[in-house]
Amino acid sequence: MIDYLADAPVPGTLDVDWHADVPLQVHVHSEHTLILRQGKSVHFEAPFLFLLFGNERALLLDTGATADPARFPLRETVDGLVADWLRRHPRPEAYGLLVAHTHGHGDHIAADAQFAGRPHTTVVGPGLDDVLAAYGLTGWPDGLGELDLGGRVIDLIPGPGHERAAVVFHDRHTGLLLTGDSLYPGRLYVRDAPAYTRTVDRLLDFCASRTVTDVLGCHIEMTTTPDVDYPRGTVHQPDEPPLALTTAHLRTLRRALTETAGRPGSYPYGDFILVHQSED
Ligand SMILES: [Zn+2]
Repeated sequence: MIDYLADAPVPGTLDVDWHADVPLQVHVHSEHTLILRQGKSVHFEAPFLFLLFGNERALLLDTGATADPARFPLRETVDGLVADWLRRHPRPEAYGLLVAHTHGHGDHIAADAQFAGRPHTTVVGPGLDDVLAAYGLTGWPDGLGELDLGGRVIDLIPGPGHERAAVVFHDRHTGLLLTGDSLYPGRLYVRDAPAYTRTVDRLLDFCASRTVTDVLGCHIEMTTTPDVDYPRGTVHQPDEPPLALTTAHLRTLRRALTETAGRPGSYPYGDFILVHQSED
C-alpha cells in the first residue's frame, strides 16, 4: 500500500503547454496525480479536471463541458488512465472511482452521464443536498470535511459564493488546493458576495495551518499581461499564463472583495478579474 503522507507534500510538475486542438489533454503532475484539460476546440470553456489516485479508489474532480463521448471521450480516457495506474500499482480488491465536482455549473458536470453504470463507481450529484450527503458535511458552510481515497485524505472546505454547492479540495499528499471557479487566472464571478467573502476567509484560515503548494482552479482566461483577459468564447489563447496561483492570491481576493463590495461590475486585480453579478 502507498503511504501518501510519507514526504508530503510530494513534488510535482506544472510545466505543460496546453493544446486547444485535442479533445482532452492529460498532464502527469506526479505519479498519483493527473491534471486533465478539455481542449478549447471542443468547448471554449476548456475546463481543467483532476484525477487523484488513492489506495482504494480514485477521485475524478469534474467532468467537463461536453456530454457527447464522441466529441469528448472522458470515460474512455479515465478508464485507460485507471488501468495504467493499476498496472503499475496492482490492487487485490476491486478499485473504485468517485466522480465529484468543484461546483455544479454546466461546464464542470456535463459528462457525468458517461460514468453511469460504471462498476464500483459513485457519481456525486451537483446539488447542495447531494454534496452534503455525499461527504457527511454538517454545519454548512462552516466546518471542514474529509474524503479518504484509501490512505489519501482530501480536506473539504465549503466554498459557496460563486455557486451555492461549491467545495474546495485540499490534497494532503501533493499540497494542492483545488479551488474550482472560486479562484483561478480569469474572471471570478461573484454570485453571493457575503458567502464568497466567508469562503475566502475560511480558505485563509485553512491555509494558515496547512501546507499548500499550488492553488489550481478550473480555467485560464487571462493573458500574460496583467489585468487583461481574453474575451469570453475565445478558442485560441497563445498567450495564456500558467494555471497555478498561490495563497497570496487568496489575500488579494479577500482585499478585492472588500474594495468592490456592493458595486456591480468588473475589477481587474492583476492575475484575475473580480466580477460582481446579481444572485441567481
Ligand atoms: Zn467554470
